[in-house]
Formats: sequence, C-alpha cells, structure tokens
Amino acid sequence: MLYPSKRPRVVIVGAGFAGLYAAKALRRDPVEVLVIDQNNYHTFQPLIYQVATAGLEPGDVAHNVRAIFHRQKNFAFRQATVTGVDWEAKMLELAGGARERFDYLILAAGAVYNDFGIPGVKEHAFFLKSLTEAVNIRSHILRQLERASANPDLVDQGALNIVIVGGGPTGVEMAGALTELFDRVLPQDYPELDLAKAKIILIEAMAFLLPPYSEASRTYAETVLRERGVVLRLGSTLTAVHPHGVELQSGEVIPTQTLIWAAGVRGHPLVDALGLELERGHRIKVNPDLSLPGRPFAFAAGDLAGSKDASGKLHPQVAPVAIQHGKHIAKTIRRQLREEPTRAFAYFDKGSMAIIGRNAGVAELSPTLLGLRFRGLLGWLAWLFIHLIYLPGYQNRFSALFNWVYNYLTFDRHSRLITNMCPALDEVTETSHQVVPEQQVSKPPPRIAKRETEAAASSRRRASHPT
Ligand SMILES: Cc1cc2nc3c(=O)[nH]c(=O)nc-3n(C[C@H](O)[C@H](O)[C@H](O)COP(=O)(O)OP(=O)(O)OC[C@H]3O[C@@H](n4cnc5c(N)ncnc54)[C@H](O)[C@@H]3O)c2cc1C
Repeated sequence: MLYPSKRPRVVIVGAGFAGLYAAKALRRDPVEVLVIDQNNYHTFQPLIYQVATAGLEPGDVAHNVRAIFHRQKNFAFRQATVTGVDWEAKMLELAGGARERFDYLILAAGAVYNDFGIPGVKEHAFFLKSLTEAVNIRSHILRQLERASANPDLVDQGALNIVIVGGGPTGVEMAGALTELFDRVLPQDYPELDLAKAKIILIEAMAFLLPPYSEASRTYAETVLRERGVVLRLGSTLTAVHPHGVELQSGEVIPTQTLIWAAGVRGHPLVDALGLELERGHRIKVNPDLSLPGRPFAFAAGDLAGSKDASGKLHPQVAPVAIQHGKHIAKTIRRQLREEPTRAFAYFDKGSMAIIGRNAGVAELSPTLLGLRFRGLLGWLAWLFIHLIYLPGYQNRFSALFNWVYNYLTFDRHSRLITNMCPALDEVTETSHQVVPEQQVSKPPPRIAKRETEAAASSRRRASHPT
C-alpha cells in the first residue's frame, strides 16, 4: 500500500523559516500538519533590527501563522510552548501539562544568543532575537533620550552611548541604522541635546568585521561605519558588563546603559531537555537526511540542526539553510511514506548579503552564481529587494516598502514610540492567558521555573531593565 489509510500526523515545533517552509512543502501530501509555536506569528528576524531602530513597525516584520496557511487544508496551528518529548509514546509535552501526539516530528525551535559565560551579559544586555526584544530596545533607547533631555548631565555619564557586541551582519546592520537615527532623525526631536556626544561603539573580538565575507567587503564595511561615526573596537574582548558600563580585556571601561548583544548563537535550550546527541553550539546531531540518529521519524531543522557540509563543517545558522532544511525534510517524509530511500541534504549556497546603512551594502553571490560581488548602492538595493521578496504576506511587503521609501526620502522614522517593556511572549501560560506579571515572574511556579528557557529569562530581565 502506498499510503496508510489514516493520515500520519506531522508535528512541527516552531513557525520560523524552517517550520514554515516544511509545512508549506507538505501541503499536497497525505498527512495532517500541526505547527506549534509559542507565538501566533512568524517573525522575520533579518528585519527586526529595523524595528529596534524605529524604521519599521513590529507588524511589518511579523505575520500571523494561521493567516499564512489559510488555504492549506491539511494544516492546523496551536499556540503553545513545547517543553519536552516523550519519545516512547511519541508525544510532545507542552507548558501547562498538555500533550500532542505525532507520527513524524520536526524540531525547528531556532537558536538563542550565547553569552559565552561573560559576567553581567545575561543581566544587563539586550538580545536582538524576538519582536518583543526589538520593541524593548527601541523603547529603551528613546527613554534614555527622554532621561537625558530632563537631565543633560547624563549624556556626559554615557547615558546615550550604545555598545553593540558582535561584528557580524547583525551588529554591522544595527550600528549602521543607529548612526542614521542619531545623525538625521533624533536631532530634530531633541534640539536641546548635543547628540554629537552620543557614541555608537561596535566591539568585535576578531580584527575585522563580517567574518564570512571577502576582505574587500570587510574593508568596505569598516570604512563606511567609521566614516559615519561608529567607534570600532576590533580585536577587543568584552570581559564584564555592569549596569552602567562594560569592561574590555585591556582594562578600559566604556560607560553605557545600552548593551546590544549580537555575538554568536547556540541551539535553543529546549534541546537540553530532549536527551539527544548534540553537536558544537548545542545543535542537534542529525543524519545526512536530517533525521535524528536512531529515530527516522524525527528531524531537526534550521538553527537547531547540526547538519554539515561535505568537509564536516556545520552549516551556517542563516535563513536560507533553514528554508532548505524545511523543504528537504518534507521531501524525506514523502519518501518514507512511499517507502523509498531517503536522500542526503545538500545546501545550495546562493551567497550572502548585509546592509551597512543608507546606500551602502555588500552582496556576494556564490561561485555557482558566477561569484558576482556588489558593494555600495547596488549591494544595498540587492539587499532590500531580496528581503522584500522573502518577507511573508503582500501587506507586510507593501508596508515595509512604503516605510523604506518614506524614511529614505524624509529622513524620518515614524515608529519613535516608547511602549512599556514586555517579557517575551513565551511566558504567556496556557492557564493565565496573559503575560506573567513582574511579581509573579520573580517567583514562578516550579514547573515553569524548571522549564524556563534562557531566552525567556533574558527577556524578563530586559523588561525590568533600570531606566
Ligand atoms: C537580528 C537577526 C538578524 C538576522 N539576519 C539574517 C540575515 O540577514 N540573513 C539570514 O539569512 N539570516 C539572518 N538571521 C538568522 C536567521 O533569522 C535564522 O537563521 C533563522 O531565523 C532560523 O530559522 P529557524 O526556523 O531555525 O528558527 P527561527 O526563525 O528562530 O524560528 C524558531 C521558532 O520557534 C519558536 N519556538 C522557540 N522555542 C519554542 C518552544 N519551546 N515552543 C514553541 N515554539 C518555540 C519561536 O517562537 C520561533 O517562531 C538573523 C537573525 C537575527 C536574530
């Protein structure tokens, strides 16, 4: 028999790039697809730094998961936080005690930032990973300006200094966007403040920016950021973070109350509860076809998966890998249903691109796409175009494009709003249906305390960041 009479149930943990593309690729297969995510929306992470810098609205970079799959008949969604897996019973364990049965399981819960055990990072840094955290960063920066406006002496104490750690694409993009905000937008709002004293400082342990890029692109990024006033501390290592400053290995202390962490990720802490073999960076060890060793019905995808190239090097934790993982796992499940042999995953690397600021970007196509390289305006336009294509939903694309054009022409940023800082939404419990209030957060119920993820903990701390 080609297919069993009762449709197998494919449960996908995470509605990120990997989860969404796996669910979409299974739309015509004789399976029931259930996607579970702690949020009811997909977050387009490559653009959240623009929410943090008031360039885009949160709604521009997130899309309701149910809306994405309106037309897919074999699709269902459940908003819940997955806390574990009962492998014997083939059941997912959810926060609140509920369980979900699966025949096939795709683990695609993404990654969290790695603080590398540096004292004070967990307590005092902002992690640019979720929409909530992006809105918290925006509100915190604007609140610092309001505080400085009320007491200009704070500027000399570093209240407007912003330190970014990590010279990869996220750190570079964040630094570039902040310089434009401070140079062109905020001086109109705060004429009483000398914003030339506000420093954007980018710290990178290596001697160069954008490690995966060519030397020409790295030098270009460095030159553009320096010209636009970013203070680059290349080859510098952070050793400690305090509420009012960061310490470097050289002994130098930089006064700041805003540390943005963009330095390396590790697999989601959920993996620690699953009893699986892990690769470097807390990524789940997978077979060449992305199934888990000894569990052909279960798969890992995206940032969480430790898939490797032919030379044994782990694939990068980027959206194209996650998308291709999702599609490949859908094909593998199809092959298993047809009792055909499965195939090894092979990543097709189209290249990389990063934006450095207005009219400045770098785009490097892979050798299979002729190895073309663009810098400057062309690199910037290529970045905008690609991100617009991949942003889910026509309304999001239209809104993002409108905001970009408006911001470009007017040097304005519409979303300069200070909102109350929030804990991450994965602290919404199934029983309470509301964000856990601060008093409760400090004494969570034992089950939540036991299962609490690092991401949730850091977001909660950010919500109570001293301002
Ligand atoms: C600021 C930033 C900028 C980036 N820029 C780029 C870029 O320009 N280009 C690029 O290619 N890549 C970029 N990346 C990396 C890219 O976003 C990731 O590689 C990609 O999102 C990974 O997809 P994923 O599906 O594995 O995980 P994610 O997209 O992280 O999705 C994971 C999903 O799982 C859900 N989840 C987590 N834990 C649980 C749980 N316990 N229960 C239920 N649901 C859960 C989350 O809510 C989330 O929806 C960037 C990342 C960041 C943070």
